[in-house]
Amino acid sequence: MNPQLPPLAEPQAAKGAFDLLIVGAGPAGLSLAARLASAPLSIGVIELQDKATLAAPPYDGREIALTQASIARLTTLGAWQLLSPHETPPLLRAEVLDGASPYVLGFADRRAAPLGALVPNAAIRRTLFERVSQQDNCSIFAGVEAQRTSIQDDGARVELSDGRVLTAKLLVAADTRFSPLRKSQGIGARMIDFGRTMLVTRIAHERAHGSVATEWFDHGQTIAMLPLQDHNSSFVLTLDARQMRDIQSMDAVAFAREVERRTQRRWGAVKLESDRFYYPLVAAYAERFVAPRFALLGDAAVGMHPVTAHGFNFGLRGAFTLGGVILAALQRRRDIADPQGLRRYERDHRRATLPLFVATNAIAKLYSDERPVARLARGMALRLMNATPGARRVVEASLSGTAP
Ligand SMILES: Cc1cc2nc3c(=O)[nH]c(=O)nc-3n(C[C@H](O)[C@H](O)[C@H](O)COP(=O)(O)OP(=O)(O)OC[C@H]3O[C@@H](n4cnc5c(N)ncnc54)[C@H](O)[C@@H]3O)c2cc1C
Repeated sequence: MNPQLPPLAEPQAAKGAFDLLIVGAGPAGLSLAARLASAPLSIGVIELQDKATLAAPPYDGREIALTQASIARLTTLGAWQLLSPHETPPLLRAEVLDGASPYVLGFADRRAAPLGALVPNAAIRRTLFERVSQQDNCSIFAGVEAQRTSIQDDGARVELSDGRVLTAKLLVAADTRFSPLRKSQGIGARMIDFGRTMLVTRIAHERAHGSVATEWFDHGQTIAMLPLQDHNSSFVLTLDARQMRDIQSMDAVAFAREVERRTQRRWGAVKLESDRFYYPLVAAYAERFVAPRFALLGDAAVGMHPVTAHGFNFGLRGAFTLGGVILAALQRRRDIADPQGLRRYERDHRRATLPLFVATNAIAKLYSDERPVARLARGMALRLMNATPGARRVVEASLSGTAP
């Protein structure tokens, strides 16, 4: 038991009455629970996946490019310290290429520090879960679905798939970008289906990557190479869904040859090192992030296109903002679902995410448009960015997470 905490209302939590309920033990939901580790609150986290899966999540192909700001936040949560060094390869530089043009737009940290690190999504989930499962103030309901929710003036009620009923003063939905809870509260979202699929897999390659991430907007395909350990990278290929189906049936050897062909052997010979994972690209932006006794977090609030690598970085930031609002309410002895506080979270998170959400979608659309005018525009866009120090600094700050 944490000696700083006043005793929790154990009998209340045992009866299913919590202060805070979080639906979704993904990286965002877990980050919020971890942020409130020392708060005098009873927290319930509800998750479809069972405890064994949460403790050792299977590799899902995602290597999350964490900004320096996110690394600092995960350190505050005590999760970063639980990662092993091979799970945190540094990202020193990012380069953007356009089609066959030899022109390279490069970004690096202005103080010559790494821009961030690449960490498997499964490792982020594992370490956050390890932290949260040690918390005295948190109960985890794993292997169950939050099915029906209702919200009254004095609290929220959640019915679980196993028949149990939980209540709370504040309900937070961190239940994916398609968030059924968001819908159940009558909150709409701007959904953008790009009609494209992203393939991610680990490869070993002949030439060294120098800890440089490459984003290559080629004609008809977008390729990213994210540097992992020596001579290993995450290969990310985005194609329209129809083209993706054509290469889905290739065996590992044929696929490795396909990667060499598509990358024009820039990284030399290639060998597949993991399964291949496919993600249909759909972005989501909720019309509102809060309602009475209700808040959206992570992808449920802002589901980014992965091309600018900001989804979880934003989710983690949001967990700190919402966590800060809840802690401030506790300090002032106010209701943790105080509407003023929730609105503050909404305002701050919208300001932090909307410009990049809009810019990311514009980039994704421009760089998948094969019309000659679009091709011309993207070549010009790269040169313009290079020639505009202010714009470069904004991108560099957003890559390292130091943007306000
Ligand atoms: C290919 C790819 C690459 C990416 N790269 C980056 C990157 O480099 N940098 C970055 O910052 N972000 C990146 N992202 C985005 C990042 O992965 C997401 O933003 C992040 O995983 C979202 O976390 P979340 O907790 O909001 O949601 P999720 O990870 O979707 O978790 C939601 C959880 O809620 C549970 N759940 C849903 N409904 C219910 C219910 N009714 N009851 C109980 N449980 C429920 C689900 O089982 C799930 O565990 C990438 C995404 C993809 C697809």
